[in-house]
Amino acid sequence: MIDRLFHGNPSMRLLPLAFALFATTTFAADTPTTIPAAALENAVQLRERGLADTLAWDITEGLTTEIGPRLAGSPADAASVEWMVAKFKALGFDKVWTEPVTYPKWVRRSESAALVAPFAQPLYVTALGNSAGTPAGGLTAEVVRFESLDALEAADAATLKGRIVYVANPRMRALVTGEDYGKGSRVRTRGPSLASQKGAAAFLLRSVGSDNNRTPHTGVTTFAEGVQAIPAAALSNPDADLLEAAFKRGKPVSVRLALDCGTEGTYTGANVIAEITGHGKGKDYVLTGGHLDSWDLGTGAIDDASGVAITTAAAHLVGQLPKRPKRSIRVVAFANEEAGLFGGKAYAETHRKDIAHTILGAESDAGADRIVKLTATVKPSARGAIDAIAKALEPLGVAYDAAAPGSGGSDLSAIHAVGMAGLSLHQDTSRYFEWHHTANDTLDKVDPEQLRQNVAVYAVALYLAAEAEGDFGSKPGAFAKELGAH
Ligand SMILES: [Zn+2]
Repeated sequence: MIDRLFHGNPSMRLLPLAFALFATTTFAADTPTTIPAAALENAVQLRERGLADTLAWDITEGLTTEIGPRLAGSPADAASVEWMVAKFKALGFDKVWTEPVTYPKWVRRSESAALVAPFAQPLYVTALGNSAGTPAGGLTAEVVRFESLDALEAADAATLKGRIVYVANPRMRALVTGEDYGKGSRVRTRGPSLASQKGAAAFLLRSVGSDNNRTPHTGVTTFAEGVQAIPAAALSNPDADLLEAAFKRGKPVSVRLALDCGTEGTYTGANVIAEITGHGKGKDYVLTGGHLDSWDLGTGAIDDASGVAITTAAAHLVGQLPKRPKRSIRVVAFANEEAGLFGGKAYAETHRKDIAHTILGAESDAGADRIVKLTATVKPSARGAIDAIAKALEPLGVAYDAAAPGSGGSDLSAIHAVGMAGLSLHQDTSRYFEWHHTANDTLDKVDPEQLRQNVAVYAVALYLAAEAEGDFGSKPGAFAKELGAH
């Protein structure tokens, strides 16, 4: 047909049409990925069982009660790895194993701060991960305030020598999408390094959180290659307000900061991996999970015991079906997400050679409140299968945005970057950033009913992906264009 068009009418005006037809023909050769009708029927059952689940609560309660804070590299980190291995085995997963993950070990011993001029008042602060300690007894210095990271970038280094830099990032709004988090965490991750490069003695910022409690939010910061680590801490929101009010007096503002923390060599922890083995002969699997580590201030209930629990309970439910899905479902409880995605990066490095077998990935790492939206990054011919999964999730209140990308989640970002197709199940984060990375991240913030909705959503999504006829486009270097776009 294309030949006939070319020879029958040599007009150049028809060339674009000819190419369009060519493209359509090539596209049609890629058989659309579909979800079998029988699988969609089973999904109805899974949805109901998910809504009656008690396992996710038991895991969240167990990890937060029996282990508690799980700072990467701490004795509790090792205990949580043992705990998780035992849990996966007790639940009857077909395969359970660990893979080593090595990273710098950061420790926190104590922290305090006070406003010393123009008034004397205590300040509630917490050190950021990778922060250096202050000299014993603390350091007292004048604080230089910046409206933004850009303003700090433009500052003359001579004005910062020996001073404490404070960046007045705005207080996060409590939004379902959590969209303010990126702006705040940028100040947290880049600010201290920039301040150090300009000779500052220490760095302070307003906590990246939407609450009004005196519970500061920790989180990682990163010092660029060759840049000396300096003491860096977050003020609670009310304490940042207090500092702002002090600045409004127009007099020099000084703060005393005492942090006993720092990086002490390296540590080798582990990703804990478990699999429900599919009945198909191939090595194909759907990847899910959460991160096992947490910050040390709270008990890491919403960040991220609940993510590990939701995905483990969902995979376990699929394993309870009378017949295994075609493909395997693999759950990873990732090591040290908090200090820089170390578990996710190690997983990607080890498994990049299997990328075509990692057919789709979806991780839970935004708390335990209900899933409100689904997005995906898949090949065009798999879009119909995602549409079918979205339709199966509609009764659970999950909206579908077919235009937005879905990377799969924080720990999966590294493996997504080497070519894994991603499915993102977005949770309502309007409460999450009240407690995220604070002493308030505790079990009472987990709502059992919303937790069950998460289990139902993951069980349906993982199962349908494992039963799909055809793949989602995972292969080396896939989605490079989409990744470049955002
Ligand atoms: Zn997390």
